[in-house]
Amino acid sequence: MNYQSAWSNDAVRMFRESARAFIANEFAPHQARWRAQHGPDPDAWLKAGRAGLLLSDVPEAYGGGGGTFAHEAVVLEELTRAGVHFGSQVHTTVAHYILAYGTEEQKRRWLPRMGRGELPGAIALSEPGAGSDLQAIKTTARREGEHYVINGSKTFITNGTRAGLVCLAAKTNPQVTGMRGLSLIVVETAKLEGYRTGRALEKLGMQQQDTCELFFDSVHVPAENLLGAVEGRGFAQMMEQLPYERLQIAVGAVAMAEQAVEITTRYVKERKAFGKPLIDLQNTRFKLAECKTRAQIGRVFLDSCIERFLAGKLDEASTAMAKYWLTETQCRIVDECLQLHGGYGYMTEYPIARMWADARVQRIYAGSNEIMKELIAWSL
Ligand SMILES: Cc1cc2nc3c(=O)[nH]c(=O)nc-3n(C[C@H](O)[C@H](O)[C@H](O)COP(=O)(O)OP(=O)(O)OC[C@H]3O[C@@H](n4cnc5c(N)ncnc54)[C@H](O)[C@@H]3O)c2cc1C
Repeated sequence: MNYQSAWSNDAVRMFRESARAFIANEFAPHQARWRAQHGPDPDAWLKAGRAGLLLSDVPEAYGGGGGTFAHEAVVLEELTRAGVHFGSQVHTTVAHYILAYGTEEQKRRWLPRMGRGELPGAIALSEPGAGSDLQAIKTTARREGEHYVINGSKTFITNGTRAGLVCLAAKTNPQVTGMRGLSLIVVETAKLEGYRTGRALEKLGMQQQDTCELFFDSVHVPAENLLGAVEGRGFAQMMEQLPYERLQIAVGAVAMAEQAVEITTRYVKERKAFGKPLIDLQNTRFKLAECKTRAQIGRVFLDSCIERFLAGKLDEASTAMAKYWLTETQCRIVDECLQLHGGYGYMTEYPIARMWADARVQRIYAGSNEIMKELIAWSL
């Protein structure tokens, strides 16, 4: 293909080569084990840190890679293409909360350890009774002297089991209903009394990513771990940072769509029916032509979003469009490609079957696609 993403350059291409080699050698061969154990190997975080895969778009002064979102996009694309679901996306998102709202002391305390992979990060917003409606969060953080005392539970938390650092949304002012009572508090989980993680949740896809519940029973956290100067800013901070996470998801969506077209094209050239390769059937060619066109349109729209993000000009509605449309397109393309694999497409040993299961959640998390449409509609 002649098309080249304008946000890529020689430095980004070199970074891609090293990320690709690392993922192929260190992560891809272990995916069956990661899936069986519902999470990456314990040393995967440290390895990713050494390879420069973590916090690639965080300044070097704070232990990051010193790159831009282009580098983060490369990491996400390469992980997706290799079929690796690692949770670095959520980890980087947590780092961006700290970068945006942390004090200088907080940034120096947490970010370098996150960059090295010593402190895997999780973001804990969702609760059994509060997903799309984050204003319904019930977990409380009551101020007692120099501490917050945290009570409540969170669910569906990516990286939850291994997280050394949890960016937690909690109600710091129970008198205020809704968004103004919420704050973000950073919880260091090592040897933390009253803190417990639940069992790994059984998921439809993304098995190799660790997802669990978190429980807080009178957990004491230093008051200085509040993110931002004052209480009650949590909801606004989430609304400001969620677009970053949604753009990350959009990057993965396009990468998987492109990969699905690529592997299916290879498959239909090899597989024979009625004495000739499947690609000789007009329906196969037309379906793949449609998929390739959709993936290409998605790529061009995504690249425009990335370029605007890099220039600090990406608006919320466009980010919501990217998350909504690109994940819908991803699922549609992967489903069509699975169909072209016939029965083999339903076998989990085939990458297309795993893609199909992995893709589905993209339309649900980080704000469901219905919520994305609400955000887009507000701009009308
Ligand atoms: C694998 C996985 C990983 C996750 N990782 C994390 C994580 O790391 N941290 C975290 O905090 N959360 C995480 N989540 C939670 C995720 O963000 C929520 O599942 C999501 O926000 C939807 O919330 P819900 O599941 O409570 O669904 P609900 O809010 O109950 O929604 C159910 C349905 O109603 C629709 N709906 C709700 N409100 C509206 C509305 N106003 N208008 C139209 N339709 C509406 C939704 O779109 C959806 O279709 C994860 C979820 C999964 C499955």
